[in-house]
Amino acid sequence: MVEFSGISSSPGYAIGKAFIYRHDKLVISHDFISSDEVDAEIARLEECFYSLIKEFRTYLENAIGDSEKALYTVELLMLEDVEYHKSIKTLIQNKRYSAPWAVEEATEEIIKMISGVEDEYLKERIIDIRDIEYAVLETLTGKRREHIEVKDKRILVADYILTSELLGLEGLENILGIVLDTGGKTSHVSILAKSKKIPSVVGANGFSLSLEEGETVIVDGQNGIAIANPTSRKKAEYEKRKRELEQSLETYGGNADAKGCTKDGKRIILDANIEWLEGVDDAISSGAENIGLFRTEFIAIKNDILNSRDKKDEIYMDAALKMSGHGDVVFRTLDIGGDKKTDGMIAEENPILGWRAVRYMLSHRKDFKAQMRAVLMASRYHNVRMMFPMVSGIEELDETLDLLDEVKRELRKEKVEFDEEMKIGTMIEVPSAALISDVLAKKVDFFSIGTNDLIQYTIAVDRGNDKTNYLYNPLHLGVLRLMKLIVDNAHDAGIEVGLCGQMASEKLYLPILVGLGLDELSMSPASLPEIRRYLSSLSYGDCSSLVNEVLSETNPDVIEKKVKEFLNERETRN
Ligand code: PEP
Ligand code: MG
Repeated sequence: MVEFSGISSSPGYAIGKAFIYRHDKLVISHDFISSDEVDAEIARLEECFYSLIKEFRTYLENAIGDSEKALYTVELLMLEDVEYHKSIKTLIQNKRYSAPWAVEEATEEIIKMISGVEDEYLKERIIDIRDIEYAVLETLTGKRREHIEVKDKRILVADYILTSELLGLEGLENILGIVLDTGGKTSHVSILAKSKKIPSVVGANGFSLSLEEGETVIVDGQNGIAIANPTSRKKAEYEKRKRELEQSLETYGGNADAKGCTKDGKRIILDANIEWLEGVDDAISSGAENIGLFRTEFIAIKNDILNSRDKKDEIYMDAALKMSGHGDVVFRTLDIGGDKKTDGMIAEENPILGWRAVRYMLSHRKDFKAQMRAVLMASRYHNVRMMFPMVSGIEELDETLDLLDEVKRELRKEKVEFDEEMKIGTMIEVPSAALISDVLAKKVDFFSIGTNDLIQYTIAVDRGNDKTNYLYNPLHLGVLRLMKLIVDNAHDAGIEVGLCGQMASEKLYLPILVGLGLDELSMSPASLPEIRRYLSSLSYGDCSSLVNEVLSETNPDVIEKKVKEFLNERETRN
């Protein structure tokens, strides 16, 4: 048995036999051409690009869903890129390379350049660039890559997979799970796997070389683990987990009335985090009570917020309407900047500590007011709340609330209807805000702790940097103390406090979050059924004792050990 840790890119468990697919690059002969062949070779290249651009435009027109559309848009950008064409032609003209050789060389240059850049999103685009390179080479040489056909139920194990390969794969319905040696959470393959509900682990470096065709694989998409040739005990353990997950999906899927509750009766509201309007359906079918976090910046970035060409008014109203009768939608105002820059935003030396979220929006008051107005207009359905990200101090919150009052006054003047009672919350994700949360709590109706950022800012460790990732620990005593302070301050002021960071999606942390006394947990819809089932097996009393115990422990490893022991004890008992 070999176990690999990777990145969970699509949740769920899968167990099955491996279908292994490794890429043999198209073999291109490196032929020089003569000087009188240059023009013909360039004409051949142009003809090739022309036909591919036509072909990809048709794919884009017929694309179904946002992820497919996004894929073809990126690939078309590459196919139409004048600089790319120019560098290939220069190699043909100056070095007398044949067109396929020049394409290979020019693409390698681009990939080499991108590989050296510290930008995960760009690195993940390498797969799209390869996709285009292969399409061009196939057209120029008439050679074809091996067609992937999966005839039986299998786990797809590959070094990497191009999105076009996944979309064009024959027998996609036979894919039980996916494990890739490379890739990241935001790669298109991960997005597609998630939308097709295929449990997947990516970035499991070397996994495809650790087993043979037909051997057994476990994909643990909940925790980002891939196991080759598991022992029968491990297999049985995962079969049990898979059954339980399926049962809770059956029990809670589509049932918005199922409530989160511990076995000794402590109610915890379980909500969903979403990024797109389509996410509302996922939230409802997972049984979420509310949309606890709508990350509005994803729609804005895609639709060009700074030119106000996004359709936020429509989208927010649709989301509120879709959720009416189910629960509330908490719209978080734009958290752009930092690692979520849009065109036209200036580069900064230290973007994570820079011009981001409310501090950015307060300097772009027109855009901030436009967004507040859109949220207020959606509030006419009386199930909308507004929440502010990255608040670091009192003045910042006051300024934001003043701006909101200004927008409300304008709407009243225009006789535009909105919910006068709309609840306002602030995220607590900066340590300074946590430390003054007693003061902030008097100014808002609710808190939502953003642990993704609170952890990075408390421990001073970049949440996206894998070199320092070992320090990024949600169980760091400093983080736990801050969370306890926030919860206590919120409750003393009589307001509710939730948590919407990734921590809420992970079973390991649930006893701590319950024991800390949080009122609400907001997570990815896919994790919700399992968290709800697990919550019902925990006792609030036991979880509070666990929290008291770990709060006097200084070593995060010991804290983690205690939490794991707590979990294991209850797993064996249940
Ligand atoms: C967080 O920081 O925990 C959070 C939910 O916000 P985001 O991940 O969007 O920064
Ligand atoms: Mg955050």
